[in-house]
Amino acid sequence: MGRLHAQYYKDIGVNVKDLRAPDPKALDVLAALAGPARQRHMTRTCIVKDMLPDELPGAEKLCERDFNGAPAETTCKNNPFYRNLVLGAVEDAIRSYDVDGVLYMAERQGAFTDTLGMRFRGKERGRPGSRTCFCQFCRAKGEELGIRFERAKAGFDELERFVSAGRARKRPADGYYVTLWRLMLRYPELLMWERLWHESFRELLRLLHGRVKAVRPGVQFGSHI
Ligand SMILES: [Zn+2]
Repeated sequence: MGRLHAQYYKDIGVNVKDLRAPDPKALDVLAALAGPARQRHMTRTCIVKDMLPDELPGAEKLCERDFNGAPAETTCKNNPFYRNLVLGAVEDAIRSYDVDGVLYMAERQGAFTDTLGMRFRGKERGRPGSRTCFCQFCRAKGEELGIRFERAKAGFDELERFVSAGRARKRPADGYYVTLWRLMLRYPELLMWERLWHESFRELLRLLHGRVKAVRPGVQFGSHI
């Protein structure tokens, strides 16, 4: 978005001014496109991307956490500041720029797939130890669902050792497939925590869809896959 309109960004944990493009004279693309697109009967769909600007002051307030509490680069879909930010962004796009559609773009997944390295940009960014999210909001939600955090933590510690050994080419005696299955059966919390992540993601999609339709029912909403 070219310009952000502060009235749509309440309780987002960061200063809305820090979210703007660094060049104050940068072209307001959505505004510039509005007239010519209408003349040509073209629809405009804007992308709300799940990515914070580099070196955003206070970004850690919106980010996922590892077991040790260290903030990750990725945003937490259960974090109320982050939810307010993206909900505000879609409302801003519709009210300020009269877009015809909004696409939310987030190529993410939960701690289980992250630990296995099955993620966007591969194993160097999905190295063991960078699994998320275990922030206060996710832990509270896990507790509500009856998932014991200490069991999940123990399971992820073991999974991390499994992945590290595999990357060091130390094949388990019974093979990777059997050993991973044993881990999942011994610690079903691994999959429960993964499901928690995906359900939370879908919950955010529902919230975004609801906001889009509440602001202007004719505007389309989609999720990037
Ligand atoms: Zn979280």
